[in-house]
Order: sequence, then structure tokens, then C-alpha cells
Amino acid sequence: MSNSVLIIDDSSTVRERIVKTLESFNLFSRYYEAEDGLEGFKKLLSCQVDVILCDLEMPRIDGFKFLSMLKSRPDLQDVPVLILTGMNDRELKIKGLEQGASDYITKPFDPEELVARVKVHLKIKKLQDDLKHSNELLLELSNTDHLTGLFNRRYMMDALEKEVQRCTRKGGNLSLIMLDIDHFKKVNDTYGHLQGDEVLKRVATLMQKELRSYDCAARYGGEELVSILPDSTLREAVFVADRIRLSLQGLKFSGDLSALNLTASLGVACFPVPGITTVDGFIKLTDDALYRAKKNGRNRVEFHEP
Ligand code: GH3
Ligand code: MG
Ligand code: MG
Ligand code: MG
Repeated sequence: MSNSVLIIDDSSTVRERIVKTLESFNLFSRYYEAEDGLEGFKKLLSCQVDVILCDLEMPRIDGFKFLSMLKSRPDLQDVPVLILTGMNDRELKIKGLEQGASDYITKPFDPEELVARVKVHLKIKKLQDDLKHSNELLLELSNTDHLTGLFNRRYMMDALEKEVQRCTRKGGNLSLIMLDIDHFKKVNDTYGHLQGDEVLKRVATLMQKELRSYDCAARYGGEELVSILPDSTLREAVFVADRIRLSLQGLKFSGDLSALNLTASLGVACFPVPGITTVDGFIKLTDDALYRAKKNGRNRVEFHEP
């Protein structure tokens, strides 16, 4: 039980009674209190809160204003608000629910009813949190290459499409690096496929390390990796590509792989390129540069000359 509740009410007596009731049922480990909507909103921004109990009539920022402030924050939409209202405020109850409250409790409240309602909303909140977490996990999995942990090809194509569009609209440069491990078949043949996988993971980690936090590293296919470098000129990208090439050449393996000397060939292109308007066209240029790197002897960087 690590739930927390925020109680917003201008009456300290009411707040005290609520805290005492909830405490006696051991529902929460943390209790936050506020005298009006503004103080409550500030608490909400600085503390993690699972349920809010909010009075309607309060001086300064009342319950309705609090609800509308909450509406402006998408990240706080999942926190249930139970409004506390006087016995006969039928209209106010309806208005409160319409403004985004999840439920209402009539004052003076019945302790068992208060607890029962709070429990229901805690349960819904927990289910929603779990669902959100699962969705985030699913999204991450659907974007990730399972072997290397880099982004997968699908994510990379989407990201590149967005970057190309952004560049077309706003100007600036966008670079793409394509890497293909040299003679990787031989690595598999010599050390086995499982060791080959380990080598791929090492290369992926190395490439990721050489990039900036806002660059994107992805596995394009088999033993081909790509990096998207937003706001990078051709010169800068070629520099990065050569740095990757050099660190790869210097990579030391241990155990069964200790005799392995690995190299890779890299192709680089920079958007915009006259005559190229599509992602596929841009990738083709980078791939052509990679092909030249292979043809010209491997363990080298070639780029598309604008
Ligand atoms: P080069 O690129 O220098 O021309 O030679 P290469 O031997 O690397 O040639 P190619 O690109 O045609 O072969 C790639 C090899 O990578 C073939 C395939 O068996 C291997 N490969 C692709 N995906 C994986 C993988 O996930 N794990 C392992 N271990 N090997 C893979
Ligand atoms: Mg009041
Ligand atoms: Mg290949
Ligand atoms: Mg290869």
C-alpha cells in the first residue's frame, strides 16, 4: 500500500475528519491537504497523487476552477477527483461530474460510503496505470529490435520520414549513415551463429555510444545498422561515421572471439539532395555510398557527393 490522497477543502475540520476516516481503514500511506484549488493544484504538480477529494465551495479557486485547471494538464487526466458537496446540491453534483469529476460524496459524509467510493476509484486508477504501463511496454517492444536493443527498421523508417518532412519544411540538414559489417558470413562460419549474434550486439552498442542523444540508431536488417543524424551536415556525419569505423576496428573481443578483428564499411548521405524528395531516394543514395565503400576495399567510409 503506497497510495496517496489529496484532500482539498477550506474547512480544516472536514479535512481532519476525512484523514481520520481514511486512516482508520489504512487506505493510504501519504495524505496531502490543501485549503483551496490553487494550493491543491500546486500540491498535485509536486507530489504523486492517486485520488483527489475536492470540496466545491471554497474561497479564491473553488472546486470547478480546480477541475478546469486539471483539464489543461493531459498528464493529470487519470487522477480521479471525488467532489465533496453539501447534501442538496443536485445541480452542483451534475455540473461537477460534467466538468470531469469521477464521483461525488455528500457532506456530512458517511465514513463507510466514503471509504467504499474511494476504494472503487483507487482500483480503477490502478487498472488504468497498469494498462498504460503495458501499452508503453508494447510500444517499446514494437519499436525495438530484440537482438540489439536498437530501434527496428519499421521505427527507423517512420522516424526518417518525419525528419525528411521536417527538413523539407524548415530547412537545415539531415544525415544518414548506413553500416554493414565486413565479411560477417565468415564470422558466423568461423565462430557459429550465436557468437555472431554477440558480435552484432557489440557493434550495435558501439554505434549507439558514438551518437548524440537525439540521433537514432536502428537495425536496418541482418548485419546492417543505420543512424539518423538530425541537424548534421555531410561533413559532420562523415566525421561521425569514420569515428564509428575506427572504434570498430579497435574493438577487442574476449574468449572464443579473441582472435577476431572486425571492420565495417559505411555509406553517408546528407539531405537535402537536389532531385531527391523521398525517403526511399535518400536511402538509395546512402546505400550506393555503402556499396562503393565495399567495392573500394571495405573498412572505409564513402559518401554521396552533392
Ligand atoms: P560483406 O558485407 O563484407 O560483403 O560480406 P558479408 O559476409 O557481411 O556479406 P553479407 O552482407 O551478404 O552477409 C551478411 C551475413 O550476415 C549473412 C547472414 O547469415 C548474417 N546475418 C544476418 N543476420 C544475422 C543475425 O541476426 N545473426 C547472425 N549471427 N548473423 C546474421
Ligand atoms: Mg467549502
Ligand atoms: Mg549485409
Ligand atoms: Mg556484410
